Amino acid sequence: MPELPEVETIARGLAQNLTGDVIESVWLGSKPEPLKSPPGEIVSTLERARIAGVRRVGKHIVVDLSRQSSVVSRQKKPKQQAQWIVHLGMTGRLLIAQPDVAVAKHTHAILRLRSGRELRFVDPRRFGRLAVVRHGFQAPGSEPLEVGVESFAGLFHQRKTPIKSALLNQSLLSGIGNIYADESLFRAGVRPRRRAASLTRAELQRLYVAVQEVLSEAIAAGGSSVSDYVDSNGDAGFFQFQHRVYGREGEPCLVCRTPIKRIVIAGRSAHYCPKCQR
Ligand SMILES: [Zn+2]
Repeated sequence: MPELPEVETIARGLAQNLTGDVIESVWLGSKPEPLKSPPGEIVSTLERARIAGVRRVGKHIVVDLSRQSSVVSRQKKPKQQAQWIVHLGMTGRLLIAQPDVAVAKHTHAILRLRSGRELRFVDPRRFGRLAVVRHGFQAPGSEPLEVGVESFAGLFHQRKTPIKSALLNQSLLSGIGNIYADESLFRAGVRPRRRAASLTRAELQRLYVAVQEVLSEAIAAGGSSVSDYVDSNGDAGFFQFQHRVYGREGEPCLVCRTPIKRIVIAGRSAHYCPKCQR
């Protein structure tokens, strides 16, 4: 499943490739699951809209749309900005393709662009979601790369759940998934099962720094392969980020050589070093 760094990388790639283009027409498939807004509303919002920008909010890709309307531009009030929101779910991908490229199985939406290209949404498992909103989209939780250390610490105050579960709680922090939660806890030296409220001020400070570092490094690692990901089906590029604990059960800790442990917390696996993490 794409996590925050992957979504950030994809959003940057789409922004580079699509900003300024205009959506001429939209085709939607017949499967209802991927459509979180009524199909007619998606089509009417997207068609003839200009792509003003693409960015990440939490784990959502937000496509800012603008509309060339003489009526609107003559008015003093700010132009109403609709947005196209894409959540990739488990297996969703946005592909930029030339129209003569065969349409892949499990394609649920095709946007035909003025540049002659198509933007296609492909999702075999159909956990991805497409929606349109008329006013500013907001993710439910705080943005991990923008939240301050005080607000970050406040999120975990008096919270009785394991810190790992709190990090995954999207209403607290938006966009942190299993991999980066494990990696952040390792760098902070905090065991995943610790009650969130039990973390000391110093531990919260370390965790804050760790989350920033892990996400930033992963974004940097993914950044070099933006065009591959967007233009084709390459999931390559994201593997440059070396996991220190995630997926390394039984392998030696890169710091102290103790075998990495794997446990299950609320149905999700958690990986940690029993010596480096307390
Ligand atoms: Zn260790």
